[in-house]
Amino acid sequence: MRAPAPYGAGAIRAVGATGLEPNRMHLELTRRRLLAAMAGAGIGATLPLRAENSMDKTGKGLRRKDSIGVALVGLGNYATTRLAPGLQLTEHCHLAGIVTGSPEKIPVWQQKHGIPDANVYSYDDFDRIADNPDIQAVYIVTPNDLHKPLTLRAANAGKHVWCEKPMAMNAAEGQAMVDACRAAKVQLAVGYRLQHEPNTRRLMAMAREKPYGKILKVRAEAGFHAYDDVDPANKPWRLLPQHGGGAMYDMGVYSLNAARYITGQEPVAVSARQEIHRPHLFQGVDETMHFTLEFADGLVAECSTSFGQEMNTLRADCERGWYQLSPFQTYDGLKGRTSSGETFADAVRHQQAKQMDDDALAILRGTPQLVPGEEGVRDLRVVDAVYASARDGGRRIVL
Ligand code: NDP
Repeated sequence: MRAPAPYGAGAIRAVGATGLEPNRMHLELTRRRLLAAMAGAGIGATLPLRAENSMDKTGKGLRRKDSIGVALVGLGNYATTRLAPGLQLTEHCHLAGIVTGSPEKIPVWQQKHGIPDANVYSYDDFDRIADNPDIQAVYIVTPNDLHKPLTLRAANAGKHVWCEKPMAMNAAEGQAMVDACRAAKVQLAVGYRLQHEPNTRRLMAMAREKPYGKILKVRAEAGFHAYDDVDPANKPWRLLPQHGGGAMYDMGVYSLNAARYITGQEPVAVSARQEIHRPHLFQGVDETMHFTLEFADGLVAECSTSFGQEMNTLRADCERGWYQLSPFQTYDGLKGRTSSGETFADAVRHQQAKQMDDDALAILRGTPQLVPGEEGVRDLRVVDAVYASARDGGRRIVL
């Protein structure tokens, strides 16, 4: 079973039909802000962002006509507890369909989210989604081994794809997904929610602005302790190699992605070492992985990930000081500190809603995704090398 709240235990606010005025006010403000931002960015006023006179009434209140319909593929923990609630908060996308292999989930989701029969699919008949005008994007939230095949099918059906991390099992698979989406002229985004999050974005800006001088050393650690109660004869997919189990795929990509965004650089070499303390559970998958990334300018990132140890810190040591986020990858409550005594904890209402609205706006505007498929491939290139190094006694692998 999934650990209780490894990604953070933030309360999920239920959003029902709100009054007309707050909705209108919010939209009007959003519209004004967007128009101002567009004007600042030199974008003409041709974007079809319409105000209240072009909204549909739905069971949940008002919805913009330019909101895109999203189908969630795989109705597991993350889809249920974060993405579906997030899609009740989004302005530019809404939950329009579901794809599931569990018939018993269908009536529950249909009733809760007002999903019509025509927008319900199984993995077998998923390709029929091509004919469904209610759905513009599919969000793949299944075990990791299914990300590639489902992405290819969605692209083939002409739907934009949002895919959870890790994007695929290896870089070759990830690249095939990028190529398929490009060929089908649909967008592909990876669910790295933190890259949309304000405290994380502050660190990304610091990588460019270097307020404490050159970054000399980075530490990036994301992990939790779980699975003590698992029956070894009946393991969840996160402990099975054929499904893309293991700490590196699950939490390690957070450490890796963070080491890349906090430095703003790509690693040039990697070495890795794995530890297994519960061999009855971890067979063919890693329990804890330590990996060192080397960057061209001599900077080194010491990274770790684990299903056996709690860890959640991202830190940069620089020429004239340091800064960190700890925790850095929870669903809320990210906390920043610097060596000058500054603290920061910028609030975001709901990380996943922010991410999905950003992704939907990119589709509506035809602009690049903030976290495109290529970003997932860059990580997978390193993940491939981490696994190869760990298998090969920690050999240094030049990327
Ligand atoms: P769960 O195991 O809770 O759910 C996965 C769902 O996938 C299942 O409920 C099932 O849905 C579907 N599924 C299809 N085939 C299989 C199969 N062979 N075995 C098990 N499930 C199957 O996983 P999570 O929701 O926690 O994770 C799903 C994905 O989301 C992973 O890639 C994970 O890395 C990512 N994730 C990302 C997070 C983030 O913060 N960005 C946080 C948590 C997860 P159904 O019954 O409807 O078919």
